[in-house]
Order: sequence, then structure tokens, then C-alpha cells
Amino acid sequence: MFVSLCLLGGILSLIPKPSDTFTSVTPIPLQPPPRSTEPQISQPVSSAGQPGTPPAPLKQNTKNPDASPALRKWDEEITVRSGDSLSTIFKRLGLSRSIPPLLRLGAATEALHRLRPGQVLHIFQDDQGLRHLMYRPTLTQETHYWRIPGGTYTVGHIDLPVEHRRRVVSGTIGRTLFEAGDDAGLSPSMILELARIFGWDIDFALEIRKGDQFKLVWDEHWVQGRYAADGPILAAEFINQGRTHQALRYIRKDGRADYYTPDGKHLRKQFLRTPVDFTRISSHFNPRRLHPVLKRVRPHRGVDYAAPTGTPVYAAGNGTVIHRGWKGGYGRVIFIRHGTRYTTVYAHLSRYARGLRVGSKVTQGQIIGRVGRSGVATGPHLHYEFRIDGVHRNPVKIGFPPLDPLRYVELADFRQQTWPMLIALRMPYNLRMAYADVQ
Ligand SMILES: [Zn+2]
Repeated sequence: MFVSLCLLGGILSLIPKPSDTFTSVTPIPLQPPPRSTEPQISQPVSSAGQPGTPPAPLKQNTKNPDASPALRKWDEEITVRSGDSLSTIFKRLGLSRSIPPLLRLGAATEALHRLRPGQVLHIFQDDQGLRHLMYRPTLTQETHYWRIPGGTYTVGHIDLPVEHRRRVVSGTIGRTLFEAGDDAGLSPSMILELARIFGWDIDFALEIRKGDQFKLVWDEHWVQGRYAADGPILAAEFINQGRTHQALRYIRKDGRADYYTPDGKHLRKQFLRTPVDFTRISSHFNPRRLHPVLKRVRPHRGVDYAAPTGTPVYAAGNGTVIHRGWKGGYGRVIFIRHGTRYTTVYAHLSRYARGLRVGSKVTQGQIIGRVGRSGVATGPHLHYEFRIDGVHRNPVKIGFPPLDPLRYVELADFRQQTWPMLIALRMPYNLRMAYADVQ
């Protein structure tokens, strides 16, 4: 179900739109394009102030010996096939004689030596050979090669204007987050991004429940009327077991972008909520099997994440390895000390990261080992403990202090930058999908 609606009108114009830019190594003769699909160059580029002579008008070529008549066209769109190169394509089109002068542009033609299957070349030719070649190195860029008087070529680049179309999508979890995301039309990478944003506060391996809801706001990038890419998530909400979490993307003055709560607190925390790759957890998101290790060893003072042997295990926070080795029922186990108060424990590993030893400094998210079933374990899983001042705490329940909150001037800037997203997040949940106007 798609619902189209107009949201916010003009306020979203805060988003900067890239403007056309154009650079050139030599002056370019500007002339009306030979057909309407050729890009309009709005700004003449002429560093030396020599207006070029417009080339002769197109006229039908009848006696080029370089080409068979069947292949001869005035302009064509060529899709690069596997095994194609610039020379095979030009030979096919009867344009071989234009290659040497074109390649005299040197470095500017490097990309033409790395054509990939599926890329499209627009080729305009006349009776003197190649007149104009255009291709897109990326979805938002065009590179043009023009013939100029004297039979040599010049090159120019255009950044195509990107149109932003704001999307607001929400979903409710029935069986799994990935299914709910798929139902809502989200790509798996978008769902992972959502989980990454809230992964500091929600354990996506253990805490997701049926009925949890999510909503996200992002801009689709469109170029020349075609969908090109998804921009980053701009705002998101996750209602987990009745608790609402919100995230707003904020670009700080130094260019770093990260996610914050509406009151300016960093979502990023001192400790990862899930110290294992949650996408590998065998039964995650299955509401009937939310606690994957059914047989718990008593007394149990940690959390178990069932995952295939070999699944990466991450350091939950920055710290120093204080133990790495076999220890009774723990099997292969790593202890990491974080500052003076916190210790994390990772047990039943199949192996340790190469080079990791007592005294090693680790950073948050660094792979320290792999899931296994060493020691007393009924199956492969990570047994994870979190200790504060030596006392075991349930790592799933601890509220970690946020890092680096926004203050003063930055907080004001944050509010100004993010309030349109906050409004977009208020869109009701029963809208499965919506386009908002971004004008
Ligand atoms: Zn355990």
C-alpha cells in the first residue's frame, strides 16, 4: 500500500541541493545539442575566452569506408558488454580513427580504459568521426568529450542535480524485523542500518518482540527522473516492548554525522549492547524462541547469544585485555577491563583474534574472537558478562551513559537542523509508506 501525501511543504527546503558544476581543461565550443537528451550546459566554460566555432551542422554520411551502413547512426546509446573495450566499441561503430585524437587527452580518458559491462555510452558522430561522447561514471555524474575545431577533443564533467524525495516508512514486527522491513518495502541494508542506530539501546538479538514498531525517514535520491540511491536515515523511531526510542541524524560542525536523541544525547554509548554479530544469531527475532539457549547453566550470571561457531565476537568497549586463555567452565575466555570500574567477559570461544594477548588494547567493535562451544556449553554460543566494580550485572538491562552530549551553541544548531525530521517522525504508524514533499 502506497500513500502519497504532502508533508511540511516548504520547510524541508533546508536540505541543500547540489548545483550543476562544470569543469573543463580547455575551452569548449558550445552549440545546441544535437538531440534533446543531451544535457543542457547552462554555464559556458571558457577559461581562455576563445569562443569555439560551432561545428558544421549534421548531415548524413554516405561514404565513410570505416563503417558498414547497417551500423551507421548519428547518435547511439551503447551498452558496454562483457569483453568490450573502447577500441572494440569504436571499431564496431566505425570510429577507430577517432581514438588516437581522443586519447591525446591523456589522464582525462583513463576511465574509458576501465569500462564496465552495463555502463552506457552516448555516442554522437558525424562525417568526421566522433563528435561527442558522453558517459556516466556514477549515477550522478556525466563526463563529456567533445571534438573541437582542429580535430582534437576536450573533456568536461557535470554533476547532475540530485532531487531528494523524502520517504517515511513504518512497520510492525510480526515474526521478524527483517520480514516486517521487507513488508514495508525496506531493503535489508536499510533494516541493518536501523538496527545499528538503535543497537546501543536495544539488544536486537534478545529484546525484539512481536508488536514492536519502527518508523524511519530518509531521502531517496533521484537523478533525471530516475531513482538513484537511498540517502542515509535522517530520523528513526523504534518502539520496543512499549518503550519509544528516537534517533535524529545530526551533522556536526566538523562534518561528523551521528545519531542523537531529540534532546541532544548521543545514541552511541561507551558499550555495545550486543557484542556479537546479531544477524548471525540463529533464532533471533523468532518470538517463540527469543532466548536461544534453552538450557542455562546455573547459577547463570551473563547473557547467552546462540550463534554459529565462527561468528565474530566484538569488544563491547575500549579497554585492555586482562585475561586470555582457558578458565574452567568458561573454556576459552577473554576478560577486558574498561577504565577502573567495568569488566566484560566473553566465554566459550572457538578461537581468539590473532595477536590478542593479555595487555592488548582493544577498541569498541574490534573482533576479539569467534563464537564456539569450549568449556561447559551445550552448543555454540557466546556467554557474555558485564561486571561493575566486580559485581555481575545484567548487560541487557544496564543503562549505559551516553558519550559526548551536545551542549550550548551546538545544541541550538542541532535543534534547528533536525526539527523537520522530528515532525516527519510524527507521521502516524498506520501509514505503511509515504512520500513527503521535499521542495
Ligand atoms: Zn552463559
